[in-house]
Parts: sequence; structure tokens; C-alpha cells
Amino acid sequence: MTIATRELERVVREIADEMSARPDRGEVAGYIPELARVDRNAFGLVVVDDAGNVAAAGDCDVPFSIQSISKVFTLTLALGKAGDRLWQRVGREPSGSPFNSIVQLEYERGRPRNPFINAGAIAVTDLILSGHQPRELLGEIVRFMQFLSDDDSIGIDEAVAASEQRSGFRNAALANYMKSFGMLENPIDYTLGVYFHHCAIAMSCRQLAMAGRFLAHLGRHPTTGLSVVQPERARRINAVMLMCGHYDGSGEFAYRVGLPAKSGVGGGILAIAPGKASIAVWSPGLDANGNSYLGRVALEALTKRMGWSVFGA
Ligand code: GLU
Repeated sequence: MTIATRELERVVREIADEMSARPDRGEVAGYIPELARVDRNAFGLVVVDDAGNVAAAGDCDVPFSIQSISKVFTLTLALGKAGDRLWQRVGREPSGSPFNSIVQLEYERGRPRNPFINAGAIAVTDLILSGHQPRELLGEIVRFMQFLSDDDSIGIDEAVAASEQRSGFRNAALANYMKSFGMLENPIDYTLGVYFHHCAIAMSCRQLAMAGRFLAHLGRHPTTGLSVVQPERARRINAVMLMCGHYDGSGEFAYRVGLPAKSGVGGGILAIAPGKASIAVWSPGLDANGNSYLGRVALEALTKRMGWSVFGA
């Protein structure tokens, strides 16, 4: 083991210890009943560096609901299917609005601001659903996650998907609104069904950090050497993550952490240090913007100690 790897392991363990001692942890998402039951004290952190070394601490092997982090992977699939045509359906500007906001949709005529707010992610799901049955597409998304993570055990938590399906009134409103502008191709129930299910994929920090490696390495899957996306596309997905990955908390996240990243209301964050590492953190308590509170604090400490911010030390 190199000195640099030992140093990284020390930093990761140190941060996990610091986080477990903190009383301020945010609030667990309450609007999806199944997520409200998750232990607020859980904390996991995993870093996979450019040489494939894994530094892990805390609840790093406990699966959690990745929720909106799945949107990074559906965006990747959609760009593979439609290329730049995707941007006719959805923009790539920060929204400055909450994740489930409907207000911009009216004056922007049903074209969501970016692929990571709920409306945008539903539009992306609709695009990749065309030409498939929902079950077929879900199988494809899960297999994609398994391939990226080198782990066939990844699957969908059906209880979380059903829980969101029962309580997803806002997402249904967003989908209906977009449909009224002719922006969705498939039956609303099909598109929402796939959306709720891909949000309900359960993964551990270790699996998620492995899945993000291609974004840290110019689009290549390090285990097989296969190109998941071209380097230019990896760079662009990272750009959208940096600008839009934390909803209306994206500016604050860039200011404090300085990495492309995507959060989910399950309390996970996938962050990419381009050329250096793929990082996953999980702490279920959220801040007012619906992003993991301690997840952000931990990533701020990590980038500072490792000098990994894309904006310099
Ligand atoms: N499935 C969640 C929703 O649509 C995702 C939100 C999130 O993770 O930010 O409300």
C-alpha cells in the first residue's frame, strides 16, 4: 500500500469519526413514508481513487435508496440514445427552484430547466422509455448499474417504489403538466412507474462510488477498460452535476465542496473528483434544500484535506 493510499484511508476514517460525533444531522425525508423510517444516525463514506484503491468507513456496505442520484445514470443512458437531441426536451441551466417545483414549467412551456430537477428527470425517463416496455427499461437501468459497479447484487427496493407511487402526487402533477404541452411521449403511468422505480434502486456507498468511476476517468469503466461514454460526454455530465446536482443548493455546494456531485433525498451524494476519485457519502438527514446535511459537511472536509476541489486548493 502506498503512502498516499494510507493517507487517504486515514482521512476517510477521521471524517467518519468526526461525523458520527455530530449532533446536528438534518431531517430525514418525510414525504416518501418508507424513507421516513431510515435511521438518521447512519453514516457511510467511500472513496475509490484513480488506482482503484478503496478507502471506506462507517456504514459503507449498507444499501440505501439512491433516489435522485439515479438521474445521473438515466441522463447517461439518454445521451447515449438521443445524443444532443436530448437538449430539445430538457435544458441544462441551474433552476434556482426546489427539486419538485412546478412554477418554471408554465412559462418555459413544459421544457424543464435541467435533467436533475424532478420534471427534467421525468422527461429523461420518458425519452429512454420510448420503444421499450417499462419492465424492459428497468432491467436495462439496473443491469447498467450492476455493470458500472462490478456488482450483480444491486436491485430495486420495491417497498420504496410502492411507497413513492402511493404518495407521488407532485410528480404526477409535473408529468401531467408536461404532457399537456406535448412534452411526454408515453402514457404518464408508464413513465412515472419507471421513474419511481429507478429512484428506488438501493445501493451502498461502496457500490455507488464504484458506479461513478467512469465519470472520474474520462468515460472509461476501469475494470474492463470499456468506454461507457466519450471523454467529452463525461466532462459534460460532470458540468451538469456541478451546476444542477444539488437543486437550489448547487451554488452553496460548489462554494463549499467544489466538485461535480448529485444528491438524493435518501441522503446519498455521489461526487466526482475528475482524474482523481469517485466518492459516495450517505447520511439520511437532509438540509432545507433536500440535500444530505452531513454528506455535504463530510465532502467539504474531504476536498479540503485532499486538495481536490476543481477550483484549486
Ligand atoms: N424520487 C424523489 C422524488 O421524485 C427524488 C427526489 C430526490 O432524490 O431529490 O421526489
